[in-house]
Amino acid sequence: MPETKQSHLQQPSPFYAALDRRGINIEAISPPDDPIARRVLHDYGAIFIADESVTPPPVCVFTSEAAVGEFQERAGFRSTNIGDAMIELQPAAMEALLKARAAARAQGLDITPRDGAEAARRSYADTVRLWNSRFLPALDHWTKRGKLSDRQTKRLRALPIDRQVAKVLQLEGDEIFFSKDFSKSVLYSIAAPGTSQHIAMLAFDANEFLDERVREIFAEHGWFQTVLSDLPHFTYLGLRETELPARGLKSVEVHDQKFWIPDVE
Ligand SMILES: [Zn+2]
Repeated sequence: MPETKQSHLQQPSPFYAALDRRGINIEAISPPDDPIARRVLHDYGAIFIADESVTPPPVCVFTSEAAVGEFQERAGFRSTNIGDAMIELQPAAMEALLKARAAARAQGLDITPRDGAEAARRSYADTVRLWNSRFLPALDHWTKRGKLSDRQTKRLRALPIDRQVAKVLQLEGDEIFFSKDFSKSVLYSIAAPGTSQHIAMLAFDANEFLDERVREIFAEHGWFQTVLSDLPHFTYLGLRETELPARGLKSVEVHDQKFWIPDVE
């Protein structure tokens, strides 16, 4: 019997090849029979090819507060105050953020956290709360529009959270969207519970994302936009921009902003 695995029969995409080079076991972080994990890997997966100075999460989808806490303790993080908000990030990400902020201020600009402490590290419970802040209003919206019945929404509310996410993504396939303005996938608005780059402590939401000069300063310090259409959201990769294609990322322009996303097509 040949020992070649199914996944090795085809040429792997640049992103999968980069994960392999980074020593990441793709089936461990994203089981092949888990469509949510695969979707998360393709949408938020840039953190897995970050520089070796940071620790990527062991899975695409955390399923408990205990697992998140264990990872965050192992990866380690630093805290600092920016304005009134306490920001927590992995040490290398924090160092780069503070350098970027100093560079911005030296040019008369600034880098500040959007929505307080939530701009950086989040717990599992934070991601569940954010999920509900999109999920519940969208149920009401689509019920009023006659796209979902009362019975359907009741059933959706009662589902365990992982099945809730799977159902929502399925509904979005029929253009019943769960983002804040109901116009796009919920995953471009907030992360599915247990999946955020903020859980990995490698993400920072900045108020100044519209300023091109600020985005350039972020990029010069290893911070890039890697979640398509999530405009204020920056991801610490710790790499130079010229290194990103070799790490399996491709650049895409949306709303005049450049996003580096997994090259999986
Ligand atoms: Zn964010």
